[in-house]
Amino acid sequence: MNKRFFRTLCLLLLFFLLVYSPLYAQKLILTGLDKLVSTAVKECKVHMSAITKIKDGKPIFSGLALDEAYDLLVHNARIVDGTGNPWYRGDIGIKNGVIIAIGNLSSHDSRQVIDAADKVVAPGFIDMMGQKSSALLRDPSSALSKLHQGITTMLSGEGDSLAPQNERTLKEGVDVEGTRLKWRTFDEYFRLLEDRRIALNVVHNVGAGQVRLVVMGEEDRPPSSKEMEQMKTLVHNAMKDGAGGLSTALIYPPGAYATTEELIELARVAAEYGGIYLTHVRNESNKLVEAIEEAIHIGQEAGTPVHIFHLKAAGKENWPLMKKALLKIQEARKAGMDVTADIYPYIRNGIGLQYFIHPRHYGKGTDAFLSTVGDPEVRRTLRLEIETTSDWENWYRHVGKNWENVLVVQDGPHTSQDFVGLTIQEIADLRRVDSWTAFFDLAQSGRVFVTPKSMNEEQKRQALRAPFVMVDTDANPTNPTTAMSSHPRTFGAFPRILAKYVREEGVLSLEEAVKRMSSLPANRLNLYNRGRIAPGMAADLIIFDPERVQDTATFTKPLSYAEGIDVVIINGEVVISEGRWTGARPGKVLRHGR
Ligand SMILES: [Zn+2]
Repeated sequence: MNKRFFRTLCLLLLFFLLVYSPLYAQKLILTGLDKLVSTAVKECKVHMSAITKIKDGKPIFSGLALDEAYDLLVHNARIVDGTGNPWYRGDIGIKNGVIIAIGNLSSHDSRQVIDAADKVVAPGFIDMMGQKSSALLRDPSSALSKLHQGITTMLSGEGDSLAPQNERTLKEGVDVEGTRLKWRTFDEYFRLLEDRRIALNVVHNVGAGQVRLVVMGEEDRPPSSKEMEQMKTLVHNAMKDGAGGLSTALIYPPGAYATTEELIELARVAAEYGGIYLTHVRNESNKLVEAIEEAIHIGQEAGTPVHIFHLKAAGKENWPLMKKALLKIQEARKAGMDVTADIYPYIRNGIGLQYFIHPRHYGKGTDAFLSTVGDPEVRRTLRLEIETTSDWENWYRHVGKNWENVLVVQDGPHTSQDFVGLTIQEIADLRRVDSWTAFFDLAQSGRVFVTPKSMNEEQKRQALRAPFVMVDTDANPTNPTTAMSSHPRTFGAFPRILAKYVREEGVLSLEEAVKRMSSLPANRLNLYNRGRIAPGMAADLIIFDPERVQDTATFTKPLSYAEGIDVVIINGEVVISEGRWTGARPGKVLRHGR
């Protein structure tokens, strides 16, 4: 090859390189970009797909393509996502009961569209003590007392629970439209709820008091080893059926008769299934701190997290104990113990009037004991005990030994309905008898429910400032058209947090309050796919105007729905629209471990 030819070849190559390389480079870049874009789109499709199920810790995607229509689109929302983050503006796409997309989705096809009109869209609230779900069986519309508060999931079961049952504990069954329904196990009970269809989601605990009642009746004695084994088997079965944990209410007979050791043994069974220990502690007044210590000790020994229901310091002299109780929980958390609590935002508690009498008297059976309460001699002894002793949950002391602080909200069958809304003192004056006679006459029926004024506002604020405190109603689902009366918390607890403690007093920010009522309780109840607004989460959502949301139930007029929760969506279905029930019942029985 001569030099000239080589030079020409080099020049030609250089020419081609100069002319074509930018084109090649451009093509290469474009191909690369194309690949990048298509990968991004694929990724995006995965992200936009619904995580419909988590199995063995891995998400399962529904494979929904980007262009598929949503079932429901909520647009123009101020999203308060449940994590405590400041609100942000966006649209929420829902498919198959699950949130599948968030962003600017206004041009996306959807079968149903809700314009949030720049109001707050938050995760549905979780009622940490919703009492008994059986009200939903009897009357599905009783759910409205919760739905109007924005509650989309309720926890059922305190010391007693709806299962297990036996012939003695569920003798009459539950009357549902003329049919007496009976069940033994949680599995049977859950199927009834599902057959009947419920408007909101429910989670259940197995009550240690219930298990005791089934095995030992109402007796005040320790269980034999055989009885202990029977109780443990019942807890095993309940947990297998999907109960979330073991719960107790340690002031009510017969649950109050259980020792710490008995409860540790039962809680250990719950722990085997990843369950939790939840408790109405043994004392909510002068021994509050000790009672919390007992709860923490049970959790430590059993290997379960601990949740304290309706944390309170009852009785004026005990109000300062709220601070100590919160400190105790905080210290336990610092030391690695998972402890949480909840409150209801009212300064009166709610209790059966008969529990103004020491629980030890009920050890031979409630009916047997109450039938003796007409005897003047029995009354004299009981009065002396109530007036002079304090080593038990003495509600007479907690109301400052003043019958004017005890309001009757629900009447027994043997008393006049005219007494509802009156204090024990007022009833005594009306009847021209002394206050103790009025008290015993009403307590004797075993059916009179009262709201003792036992707490103060400051302890509510202190509790709400603690980051581990959630909210409960401590009340059954209640239909105001058929109920005689109630505690206002039944209808107002959650909106009252937003109205009084967020809007009026500024104790909490809106985002923090929503967090306490959504993701915090969801974590507590192992409901990791609820309580947050994010893709893959169950579509339990509420829409409200924070300036307008308001509880309306009061102690004198408790049967009144909350206002301002305009829309409630449960599992992707609209249950409340423009403040009214659509008739939908998309609630699920959320079984632990399923
Ligand atoms: Zn309780």
